[in-house]
Amino acid sequence: MSTDELPDYDAVIVGAGVCGIFQAYWLQKLGFRWSAFERGSDVGGTWYWNRYPGCRFDSESETYGYLFSRELFQEWTWRERFAPREETERYLHYFVEKFDLRKHMQFNCKVTSARWEERRRCWIITLSDGRSVSSRFLLTALGLLSDPTLPRYPGIERFKGTSFHTYYAPKEPIDYRGKRVAVVGTGSTGVQVICEIAEQVGSLTVFQRRPNWCAPLNNAVFSAEETAELKDRYDEICELCGSTPSGYVHNAVAKRTFDVSKEERVEFWERLYADRGFGKWLGNYKDVLTDPEPNAEYSKFIAGKIRQRIKNPAVAEMMIPKDHGFGTRRVPMERGYYEAFNQDNVELVSLEDTPIKEIDETGILTTARKYEFDIIVYATGFDAIIGSYEKLNVVGRDGLRLMEKWKAGPRTAFGIAVPGFPNLFTLAGPQSGSVATNFPRGIEDAVNWTSNLLAFLREHKCTRIEAAQAAEVQWLAEVQKWSKRILFGQQNSWFTGYNTNVDRRRADAALIYAGGQIRYRKVLAQQAEQGYPAFDVQ
Ligand code: NAP
Repeated sequence: MSTDELPDYDAVIVGAGVCGIFQAYWLQKLGFRWSAFERGSDVGGTWYWNRYPGCRFDSESETYGYLFSRELFQEWTWRERFAPREETERYLHYFVEKFDLRKHMQFNCKVTSARWEERRRCWIITLSDGRSVSSRFLLTALGLLSDPTLPRYPGIERFKGTSFHTYYAPKEPIDYRGKRVAVVGTGSTGVQVICEIAEQVGSLTVFQRRPNWCAPLNNAVFSAEETAELKDRYDEICELCGSTPSGYVHNAVAKRTFDVSKEERVEFWERLYADRGFGKWLGNYKDVLTDPEPNAEYSKFIAGKIRQRIKNPAVAEMMIPKDHGFGTRRVPMERGYYEAFNQDNVELVSLEDTPIKEIDETGILTTARKYEFDIIVYATGFDAIIGSYEKLNVVGRDGLRLMEKWKAGPRTAFGIAVPGFPNLFTLAGPQSGSVATNFPRGIEDAVNWTSNLLAFLREHKCTRIEAAQAAEVQWLAEVQKWSKRILFGQQNSWFTGYNTNVDRRRADAALIYAGGQIRYRKVLAQQAEQGYPAFDVQ
């Protein structure tokens, strides 16, 4: 191949969120010719888009950053134990400036298609401004939840007040004071919105389809002493996060629920409930998330908490899930969520009892009555993981379309490569380790591994790599095996591809690898140690 046939770039990253900018750091370090294309006007991904009130993560802040750099960890000071969106966005900006990555990034730049060209061994990437560029490798860092879905109610476009999906909440803050506000959806996002605005609004009407089990986050601002102590614990934090299957500081305790007395159990659960973060989900007895009976016992305990916190027993019953146990869907973390429903200005509408019939110019019509609003907030979730791949229009070897290949659900090698799609790495893609872990911990594994592989290919003067079909078959079996072992894998939620707002139902789609990050890391490491036996390298 002559030099004028070399592609424009060695590697192109799609997306400049948490995953994309870490991959950018690596490409820069390796001295690759690279660019990152980001459809937003700046870096941040999830933390750029989700400007809804109350947006924050519920990973402990110190575990949400990049842990590869001791220096970065020492330089950056987290203000809150569970940082709000703005703080995380500032952190990501700091990262990009510190490692001087911005100069290779292109913003307001949407990738509309990517097509593999076998002859030149490169990807032809088409952008929304009409340009096309070529790149030897294509690295997708699309995020798990970047394709928001609105409900399909008749008349939704007719509403004349302010309305938006939480993902597209306006950049200019909205003044909710005194307004008549509707929130549709009570997943993690809806719950955060409700907690944040309930006291500001004139009236708040919450449209709930299925209730979720919510639990207190117990956030706080770090004191100066706590910050200093945190910085001293860098090695310990790295080790701890690396040693739990979820990449959080929480880990299941070795005991089983019914191995201990009821008193001991309840005392332990009281402590968990009063403690910070995900401990009440991930730091429980080891069988709570895998065995229905212990799970039911714990769910009873949490239901008791909900009944204590909500004054109106009828409302409390509406908010206690009856169709799934605690922690078998993503647990929304909250501050004063249940208490909000004790306020006179907050009303709960069950969409199971009275479904929405239509939206008109002034509000929402259910089968029971008409509600008038100034603002409607749709916290109605995402076409998770797959939706953004669909929008990318990826065409691989022999004209094979990625979505055609994935029509019965994603098929991948280790969630990171796809047979038929040479030189493509789906960094936080379906079936990868990052989906079911504390996200930055999960993507560090995938990005480190991919970057080392890219260096290996360069060193060996290889320009083409493709995962073998056999790897795909084995990985699917592995994904399905772990999915069956946890109660989480059996519930309808975005983790299992459930979303009533899109036509494709992917409840059997094997979207997540639930074997945990320790196992995932080992699988990837084994590939590298053995010279990538699951790949054809040329
Ligand atoms: P979600 O968990 O998928 O929740 C969507 C909500 O909207 C559900 O209550 C759903 O009801 C409802 N809904 C969907 N379509 C509807 C329709 N047509 N009519 C009425 N209700 C409808 O989405 P999310 O709340 O945006 O959260 C997604 C994920 O983002 C979370 O699981 C979490 O991983 C992440 N997140 C994290 C944080 C954090 O770190 N703190 C915060 C926010 C989000 P059904 O349950 O009946 O389907």
